[in-house]
Parts: sequence; C-alpha cells; structure tokens
Amino acid sequence: MSKDALRSQLLTLRDGLSPARRETLNQRISEYLIDILPQQPLRIGSYLAFGSEVDLDTFHHHVFSHAHELLIPRILSNTTMEMVAYQQETDLVIGRFGIRTSKQNRVTELRALDWLIMPCCGFDRRGYRLGMGGGFYDRALEHCPPKAPIRIGVAYATQETQFEPEDWDQSFDWIITEDGFIRR
Ligand code: ADP
Ligand code: MG
Repeated sequence: MSKDALRSQLLTLRDGLSPARRETLNQRISEYLIDILPQQPLRIGSYLAFGSEVDLDTFHHHVFSHAHELLIPRILSNTTMEMVAYQQETDLVIGRFGIRTSKQNRVTELRALDWLIMPCCGFDRRGYRLGMGGGFYDRALEHCPPKAPIRIGVAYATQETQFEPEDWDQSFDWIITEDGFIRR
C-alpha cells in the first residue's frame, strides 16, 4: 500500500474515535509524559493538536506550572517550520494551514531541545513515523545529532501500522500510546 493510502486509512481510524474516548486516551498519554519528567528543567518541543491528533493540553499545563520550557511549531512555508516559545494560552494565534501556534518571538534551534514530541498518522514498533505527508519534521531534524532532541512520538494504539521508511524519514526514539511506552 502507498504511504498516502495508508495515511488515509489511519486517519479514518483516528477520526472514528469518539471525542469522549479520545479525551480519556489523551489524559492517559499526558500522564505518561508527566510521570517521566525529570526534576531538572527541560526544553521541550511539543505541538498543539490539529483535528483528531493526540491532544497534550494536560501535559502542557503541567509543564507551564513547573520550571520547564515549552516550544511549539510555527510553519514558515510549505516545507519549513521553526520552534517558538509557548508560555500561556494567551500566546495562541492561528498560523498557516489553520494550525494553532504561538505569537511569541523567541525561537529555539531543534538541536537545542531535550525532547521533541511529535504527532503522527501512524507509527511502527521499529520507530518509523508516518506524518501528514509534508515532511516538515523530516526536514527540521535532518541535521540534528542523534538524541538531540530525543524524538518522542505520541499516538493512539489504533495508529500502529507497518511500512517501509524512505531515505529521508526520521524515526522516533520513544513512542507513547494509551497503553504506555511502545518503545523507549
Ligand atoms: P511525512 O514525513 O510527513 O509523512 P514524507 O516522509 O512522505 O512525509 O515526506 C514528504 C515529502 O517531503 C517527500 O516528498 C520528501 O521528498 C520531502 N522531504 C522529506 N524530508 C526531506 C529532506 N530532509 N529534504 C528534502 N525533502 C524532504
Ligand atoms: Mg517522513
């Protein structure tokens, strides 16, 4: 099956989870992340859910109320993005493609992040990531050293799949679903 066909199949499954069910699963996934947060402050790249993506708001609120730094993507063009500071909900604005982002100006290089938490259409147990088809994270991570940042995928268990990655595909170090760590 082509990546595009697989994407649309996986998105249909994800969209098919009821809002109440997703809320329960979102909560669990946020709690797994909160559980592994260390005492020392981290620089955390995350994202704001679009459509039926895993919503990490509970985790973000926890991060706001501790000493960690939070950054989210800002899309710059059809191929590029940067990570911009996100400190509170009043920072929110609607960015390109209708995706929520932050109006702050402080931008951080990806390689300076400790964690980068990413959404996906699908994942496999080897750590491969199927994104939305834009290759944004693949490009942004292209020149980052291994584990700088640690690449963390969050997904619902129903998004597990199998596919052959392409040369440019960046993979996850850790994957978290409502069932806990699938890979770490
Ligand atoms: P996604 O990762 O969002 O699922 P793909 O992996 O299919 O999307 O990549 C989408 C497009 O982005 C591909 O056409 C690919 O050629 C391009 N792309 C991905 N990474 C890079 C890169 N590092 N440099 C240039 N083009 C890239
Ligand atoms: Mg890719």
